[in-house]
Amino acid sequence: MAFESLSEKLQNVFKNLRSKGRLTEDDVKAALKEVKMALLEADVSFKVVKEFIKAVQDRAVGQDVMSSLTPGQMVIKIVNEEMVRLMGSETTEIKLKPSNEITVIMMAGLQGAGKTTTIAKIAGKLKSKGRKPLLAACDIYRPAAIQQLQINGQKQGVEVFAMGTSHKPVNIVKAAVEHAGKNGFNVVIIDTAGRLHIDEDMMNELIEIKENVNVDQTILVVDAMTGQDAVNVAGMFNDKVGIDGVVLTKLDGDTRGGAALSIRAVTGKPILYIGMGEKLSDLEQFYPDRMASRILG
Ligand code: GDP
Repeated sequence: MAFESLSEKLQNVFKNLRSKGRLTEDDVKAALKEVKMALLEADVSFKVVKEFIKAVQDRAVGQDVMSSLTPGQMVIKIVNEEMVRLMGSETTEIKLKPSNEITVIMMAGLQGAGKTTTIAKIAGKLKSKGRKPLLAACDIYRPAAIQQLQINGQKQGVEVFAMGTSHKPVNIVKAAVEHAGKNGFNVVIIDTAGRLHIDEDMMNELIEIKENVNVDQTILVVDAMTGQDAVNVAGMFNDKVGIDGVVLTKLDGDTRGGAALSIRAVTGKPILYIGMGEKLSDLEQFYPDRMASRILG
C-alpha cells in the first residue's frame, strides 16, 4: 500500500489525540508539531508543510474546538479537510473536445518516469469511453522508445503513427494530426522525447511543438517515488513549457507521499491520474478526498 510510513506516523498522532478527553492549546500544538515532522519526513516541501500546519493551527486552536465534546476528533477532521484542500479538492479530468474534433494531448516527462506506459494506459481509458486515439511517436532519439510505444499501442489495440528517427518532432506531430483527420481519429497523444535530466533542448522541442501545433492539453508524467525531485521537475516544466496537469506514476511503490501532497500547491496544476502499477490497467483517476483518507487511515 502507498504511503504506509506517513500513514502510520499520522495515525499514531491521532490515536493520542483521540485518547484525550479535553485538549489544551499546547496539546494541539504538540500534535501538530508531530504532524509537521511526519510530513517533512514524507518529503513534502518545507514551504507547503509550513503553510499547511499554519492553516490547520489557525482553525484548530480556538474556543470552538477546545470546548467541543470531542476536540481530538475535531482536530483530525480539520487535518483531513486541509489535506484535501492541499491536493486541489476537486477531481480534474483531461479536457476533451467534442468527438467530431481532434483533441491534441502532448505528454512530457523525464526518461523512466513512466511516460510511454502512461500514454498506453490513457489511450486505453479513452478507447473505453468511445474515443478513437492515435499515438504519435516523437521520441526520435531512442529507436527503442518508438518500438516500446508500438508494443504498448498494440496491447491496447491503438494505432501508433511513427516516421522513424529522421524527422523533426514538430513535423511528425503535424503529419500525425493530418493522418488523424483523414482517418477518423479524434484524439492524438504525442509521445515526446524524455531525457535523464531536464535540459534546454528538451524544453525547446516541447515549446516548438506548442508554437506550431494547436496542443489542447500538455500533461506531465512524474515518478512519485522521486519525491521532491518530482515536484521540482513539475515546477520547471510548468514555468518553461506550461502544463495543464500531472500524472503521478509509481504511487504503488511510494511509501512517503511527498509528491502527491506537494505538486498541486507548488505548481498550481492538478494531478489528473495516478499510476498504481505496471499493468496497462493500473491507472486511476485522482480523487483528493480519497487520497487524504488513504493517508490518514
Ligand atoms: P518512460 O521512459 O517515461 O517512457 O517510462 P516507461 O513507460 O518505459 O516506464 C519505466 C518503467 O516504469 C517501466 O518498467 C514501467 O513498467 C514502470 N512503470 C510505469 N508506471 C508505473 C506505475 O504506475 N507503477 C509501477 N510500479 N511501475 C510503473
